[in-house]
Amino acid sequence: MQTKAYAAQKAKAPLAPIAIERREPGPKDVALDILYCGVCHSDLHTARGEWPGILYPCVPGHEIIGRVTKTGNDVKSFKEGDIVGVGCMIESCRTCEPCQHDLEQYCEGPNGFTGTYNGAAKGGLPNTFGGYSKHIVVDEHFVLRIRHKEQQLAAAAPLLCAGITTWSPLKHWKVGPGQKVGIVGIGGLGHMGVKLAHALGAHVVAFTTSPSKKSAALELGADEVVVSKNRDEMNAHAGSFDFILDTVAASHDLDAFTRLLKRDGALVLVGVPEDPHPSPSVGTLIFGRKSIGGSLIGGIAETQEMLDFCAERDITCDIEMIAMADIDNAYDRQLKSDVKYRFVIDMATLT
Ligand code: NAP
Ligand code: ZN
Ligand code: ZN
Repeated sequence: MQTKAYAAQKAKAPLAPIAIERREPGPKDVALDILYCGVCHSDLHTARGEWPGILYPCVPGHEIIGRVTKTGNDVKSFKEGDIVGVGCMIESCRTCEPCQHDLEQYCEGPNGFTGTYNGAAKGGLPNTFGGYSKHIVVDEHFVLRIRHKEQQLAAAAPLLCAGITTWSPLKHWKVGPGQKVGIVGIGGLGHMGVKLAHALGAHVVAFTTSPSKKSAALELGADEVVVSKNRDEMNAHAGSFDFILDTVAASHDLDAFTRLLKRDGALVLVGVPEDPHPSPSVGTLIFGRKSIGGSLIGGIAETQEMLDFCAERDITCDIEMIAMADIDNAYDRQLKSDVKYRFVIDMATLT
């Protein structure tokens, strides 16, 4: 079946309307009408060809909230009318060791997991197309239940990527009460990192390059805010952090942050810049047994756990709603860190 969407036809080209094919729902599929889709910086990296291996046309979008329109005969967990979410993955091999342990994002099957966009599509269709569209069909295993209130649905959409990508490392590195935790880059991911680390009981320090975000970061739940370009402010925190989560979407000096870790502390990277970070100083790491790690989104069960945690505590994202046609302007503003903190597309504007 055909559905309306917005696509980049090549790197650097503005996004424009396109008609795409969706498969007919199979026995295990859930079909949904998309209500809202968040705008992740990964959408921008992908649409504009900043990462290798991008397939065009490219329909980005992996922070999807929708209403179920149809379910296959074998679907057990969802029915028509349910409000559901779809995040960054829509398929994986289901049999490898990571898949068996609810870590589909680290699938070791022949092609790894299938991305909601820029992946290999089923049923003879071309590459997968994401949430900048009216309609999508997804296997039930990769569909999430949304328990937020009706009026919170747009602001819940970015939980599907920004929420889980920050939640998963915070949980894996056991962030909690009594710990001092840094969140670097207060954008879509970072502002959720602040909210979630605060909700998990840590003492949270937000690192921003934007002095204008200082008071806003305190309102998000940060206990302190550091302007990372200010050497004195940075030095005041030397050797004091248990854990720092770095969400920055651009190449930067990592030593500035490993220096702030305590012995055995970890700097975990989730940002994926177009150009590599400068090589970090080994000396800063070995004098203190510090580590630098990385983390990729989160598994489906863990995503549901995060969504339910947020729904119970009324945690949502701080969003600015846009019309589908404003997407390129939104990308340009995102590059200037001019959004508090996530754009969400109202899919009713795609007509
Ligand atoms: P975003 O909303 O654009 O936020 C990134 C933030 O980084 C900005 O708000 C800004 O915060 C800071 N920043 C930007 N340029 C900077 C620079 N040159 N130097 C220092 N700080 C800078 O992006 P996002 O959607 O949160 O995504 C962040 C990154 O994570 C992207 O690379 C994205 O592709 C990646 N990502 C990874 C995963 C994963 O699974 N690992 C999942 C989703 C996204 P301040 O204004 O506060 O400085
Ligand atoms: Zn994303
Ligand atoms: Zn697998």
